Amino acid sequence: MVPDLDVVVGLWFGVPWGHMLGHRGLTHSLTFAVALGAVVTALAFRAPQWRGRRLTVWLFLALATASHGVLDAMNNAALGVAFFAPFDATRYFLPWRPIPVSPFAFRFFSARGWMVFQAELLMIWLPTAGIAMLASLARWRQDRPSSR
Ligand SMILES: [Zn+2]
Repeated sequence: MVPDLDVVVGLWFGVPWGHMLGHRGLTHSLTFAVALGAVVTALAFRAPQWRGRRLTVWLFLALATASHGVLDAMNNAALGVAFFAPFDATRYFLPWRPIPVSPFAFRFFSARGWMVFQAELLMIWLPTAGIAMLASLARWRQDRPSSR
């Protein structure tokens, strides 16, 4: 959710929509994903038990953050994602854009918002939950003491 803070900050400071610091700009870039992952890892995973696993945590957080931009590039909004900001301001969409763009703020609670919610549930949340369940099952089977 952090990448979409650009909407709030942009409105506060009057940043134009298509600006590199505007919506879907720098905060949706791969650079931001890597940097945010590094900052969160450095601040929240300092305890000794994370030693030796911080690189994995950093990669996981960076990929999770970058996935936001990838999903945004798969919807039918008017503005693409600046994946390579701050080095390149070009906005990109993926060739396949099946996800309808979400209405802004309170307009989400409308008939169109409900349609978008159902589409995201079907195309994003249910497959993700299925993958998470399979991963949990695999981990459970791996960690289970052998019965032999
Ligand atoms: Zn976004």
